[in-house]
Amino acid sequence: MRTLSRLKSCLSNVSWTVWRNRCRWNFSIHRLESNRTLLKHLTSKINSTGPISVAEYMREALTNPVSGYYTRNDMLGPDGDFITSPEISQIFGELLGVWCVSEWMAAGKPSPFHLVELGPGKGSLASDILRVFRQLKSVLGEAEVSVHLVEVSPKLSQVQAEYLTSDQKLVCDDENELVYRSGTTHAGLPVYWYRRIEDVPKGFSVFLAHEFFDALPIHKFQRTEKGWREVLVDIDPESPNKLRFVLSPSPTLASATLVQLDESRRHVEVCPEGGVIIQNLANRIAVDGGAALIGDYGHDGTKTDTFRGFKGHQLHGVLDSPGMADLTADVDFSYLRKMAGNQVTCLGPITQQSFLKNMGIDARMQVLLKSCHDRDSRAQLIHSYDFLTNPEKMGHRFHFLSVLGQDRIALNKGHEKPVAGFTELVR
Ligand code: SAH
Repeated sequence: MRTLSRLKSCLSNVSWTVWRNRCRWNFSIHRLESNRTLLKHLTSKINSTGPISVAEYMREALTNPVSGYYTRNDMLGPDGDFITSPEISQIFGELLGVWCVSEWMAAGKPSPFHLVELGPGKGSLASDILRVFRQLKSVLGEAEVSVHLVEVSPKLSQVQAEYLTSDQKLVCDDENELVYRSGTTHAGLPVYWYRRIEDVPKGFSVFLAHEFFDALPIHKFQRTEKGWREVLVDIDPESPNKLRFVLSPSPTLASATLVQLDESRRHVEVCPEGGVIIQNLANRIAVDGGAALIGDYGHDGTKTDTFRGFKGHQLHGVLDSPGMADLTADVDFSYLRKMAGNQVTCLGPITQQSFLKNMGIDARMQVLLKSCHDRDSRAQLIHSYDFLTNPEKMGHRFHFLSVLGQDRIALNKGHEKPVAGFTELVR
């Protein structure tokens, strides 16, 4: 589950490099107007064509080009609506940077090497990874490294560009242009922004998606006596400015095609957009080489109703004030593995605690603590370590799944190349 209010209170005094809310925006008035516009847009749509799917509602609320939550907001950090691991500590991004380089080395150090991040938020993860790349310059050698960011939000892409680049060569509003922004990182690497993964150029790539899949639209289905029915969003007949859930009276195309025949749960959430994206990554990895690392909260096909709203670090009604709150659903890792198919090998999901420990977070902590003599900073370091790894906090709530080429793990004994962070092969 996304960050809770206690996370904020425990970390609110942190001043080490933990909080990175370098950009603050005052959206309050604009937010209110956009909220009314979006609600009006949704109610007129429902009035003309009938109740809409939860996926359509979620897509509009999060990524409507004018009033979507992600489209306009910088929502991450203590003053925002939620906080993520890369925002909690730089160690997180550094370890993921080591993972990227390790997979690139295991592939035989190909060049060019694309680092591709889906949904980069403020750009903190990419920034920490690029710092590792700078430190490992001698290892990366002459490899032609470039950075490719898939970001739907013009506002967040601007925040990312200000953080990651020393110049911005191109900013383009034309929907037909695949690259809508570009620049050069502080270390001189080219960086490009795209709206969709399909637009990212082919080639050996390491893909990262942290808290990205949980933001993609889900369909919801309910088992009834008459069979599976899709949960839809309708206008509340008691109040024309309120939305409510209803069940479709008959099967919809989605309920007929997305629910598995052997499904045993009474309520299911399916994220077909996530399925299409993982298939795209799997195809690319199979054809061009590379690897993907997906970090998110989720389950292995066991949970039912996980659709939640967050605003100001508090739970928020999912149908209340659309466009004003973050909407999210737990990632179904079993679905992602299935959609990735047989052309790739999937490892995990494993808990964030196991992944970070396997990546050497304890050793990294010792190094940082040794060089840190200030009492407050030491306490902050320990706090952030605890939040990332404690099973009660993010340690067991978040999981990592990797997608690798079929030939990545040689199965003949003695020739296994271990995959950093993962200890066992789970297919
Ligand atoms: N990875 C970051 C941010 C997570 S928030 C972190 O861990 O801190 C989700 C991010 O995904 C935001 O940058 C949001 O704008 C982006 N996003 C959400 N839906 C998207 C979509 N359909 N396509 C591309 N980016 C999307």
